[in-house]
Amino acid sequence: MNILVTGGTGYIGSHTCVELLNSNYNVIVIDNLSNSKIDVVDKIKKITNKDFKFYEGDCCNKEFLNKVFTENQIDAVIHFAGFKAVGESVLKPLKYYRNNLDSTISLLEVMNSFNVKKLVFSSSATVYGKPESLPIKENFPLSTTNPYGSTKLMIEDILRDLHKSDNDWSIAILRYFNPIGAHKSGLIGENPNDIPNNLMPYIVKVATGQLDELSIFGNDYDTVDGTGVRDYIHVVDLAKGHIKAIEKVLKENTIDSYNLGTGNGYSVLELVKTFIKVNNVDVKYKITKRRPGDIDACYADPSYAKEKLNWEASLTIDEMCRDAYNYVKKNK
Ligand code: NAD
Ligand code: UDP
Repeated sequence: MNILVTGGTGYIGSHTCVELLNSNYNVIVIDNLSNSKIDVVDKIKKITNKDFKFYEGDCCNKEFLNKVFTENQIDAVIHFAGFKAVGESVLKPLKYYRNNLDSTISLLEVMNSFNVKKLVFSSSATVYGKPESLPIKENFPLSTTNPYGSTKLMIEDILRDLHKSDNDWSIAILRYFNPIGAHKSGLIGENPNDIPNNLMPYIVKVATGQLDELSIFGNDYDTVDGTGVRDYIHVVDLAKGHIKAIEKVLKENTIDSYNLGTGNGYSVLELVKTFIKVNNVDVKYKITKRRPGDIDACYADPSYAKEKLNWEASLTIDEMCRDAYNYVKKNK
């Protein structure tokens, strides 16, 4: 089976390529390298000892997509390509609507014309907005609080409409919770060049001395210690969820959404303290005011993915902290 992976040199895409190649799928990767580096291609090959085709190009460019589909017999697509920074999306909404929607619609049109109708799409727990209760189930009401989240929800709606219009489409919408960690080789992972927006990349940069101090955004939330609670999931577990989702879409013509999380919530302080303990390193932090738009707690009920995809996360918070640090130490 030949799987096209858009955004395949990015953080989650690269780990998914590793799992696909290890599961004996043929992989074709597209990425415009707007948020990743070309050397990831060789690193994936090194980890897996397998070869695959890489195309540098933009998913908004239908001529380019047509060429990729003409040159390859594609069976299914995993669509990661898109922008993902919540804060930037508030400042530059058009950039987000243009790239995330245009890349997806262009891809869907080209897939349609080549009669390739099997898709796994990267959505996010952000489509649950401010959940009324926890843990979050897939049938909870959907809403968004920022343009990035709106692009995800709009794309989900497009996919649902598409399937309604043509039942030959087979689509898995994966709603990720908070992916962290890295492949244990230390060859691929997440290490943003700019000041990180997300918690784990920030913690790691403080631990490696690249940043002075972590700001913990608020300690007056309604949680175990007052700091925000999230469902952190090891990126390798997340990548494995994509293999199960691909198996599903190749087998059945349905559309369905699945939470990919562990079901466990950890507070900011719990994560920082675990990181310090596991890696035996200091992480300076201070408590500051809340970040606008943040919610107290967010964690998944992952039982539907277990039931329907036969998938569940297995790596621990200790492994997430160890692997995240290992990657950045080797690549800073
Ligand atoms: P990433 O930025 O590391 O990877 C995305 C990749 O897509 C990058 O390599 C980038 O260069 C590429 N890309 C962007 N626009 C493109 C375009 N128009 N054409 C071709 N390539 C393009 O991000 P990630 O963390 O790996 O996330 C992957 C997907 O998962 C994204 O859609 C993101 O919104 C979604 N997601 C991520 C998280 C998270 O916390 N990382 C959470 C929920 C959902
Ligand atoms: N957070 C923090 N300091 C940071 C970054 C994040 O205290 O520098 C907190 C944030 O308020 C939230 C948690 O860490 O409670 C996870 O934030 P992240 O941005 O990683 O994920 P998201 O909020 O999108 O779930």
